[in-house]
Amino acid sequence: MRIDIITCLPKLLESFFAHSILKRAQEKGIAEVVVHDIRDYTLFKHKQVDDYSYGGSAGMVLMIEPIDRCISALKAERTYDAVIYMSPDGSTFNQQTANRFSLFKNIIILCGHYKGVDERAREAFITHEISIGDYVLSGGELAAAVVSDALIRLIPGVLSDETSALTDSFQDSLLAPAVYTRPAEYNGMKVPDILLSGNEKEIEKWRFENALERTKKRRPDLYEKFTKDSGLDTQ
Ligand code: SAH
Repeated sequence: MRIDIITCLPKLLESFFAHSILKRAQEKGIAEVVVHDIRDYTLFKHKQVDDYSYGGSAGMVLMIEPIDRCISALKAERTYDAVIYMSPDGSTFNQQTANRFSLFKNIIILCGHYKGVDERAREAFITHEISIGDYVLSGGELAAAVVSDALIRLIPGVLSDETSALTDSFQDSLLAPAVYTRPAEYNGMKVPDILLSGNEKEIEKWRFENALERTKKRRPDLYEKFTKDSGLDTQ
């Protein structure tokens, strides 16, 4: 998968993709993230990319021209499955969307800043508008990083234990069960015996029940959906 991120603050994103799982995914050639500085695409002398809002309200708006020029340059190189704009009024990102998007080969993510981007750029070039939650950030960079991370870790071969993405929260509409590591006892606090038993079947059963219990307690909305979908509510 190749992700092209368009931003006016490329430095904000550089270090994020230079570490850990995202770095390894790129080294293995499974994912490629290319960050583009929108200022490289403006025709203005002083690298201006934003201007005052028509109708006069507070805050600057990213101009359509540099966005157009950047997206057009990318599209001339390859075909894109999606051109995503990060926006608080987009549809809320979740694991289902992450699963769906992780199958894409090439995507562009446009980050807004200040008051956002000229509406005409959204209408003309954007195929998906995504919010990472009902709050407002100062720029789309963190949101683009969140989405890229969630997608890349789903691509086969990125996580060393491939099944591990499948056992994460939300993958089967349940939250993930509790996890423990050494020591088996710490200041009197014990790891559940069953996890030390080596009995795979019983461990699986414990994990499922623990996941059910946690979901019921923490996310009754998900629990209700899960029991309905799986027929558990009628048993
Ligand atoms: N005036 C806009 C907010 C602009 S915030 C409004 O009220 O809707 C500046 C930029 O930050 C946005 O263009 C967007 O790219 C990004 N952003 C802010 N909050 C976000 C969120 N919850 N999800 C995704 N992107 C967000």
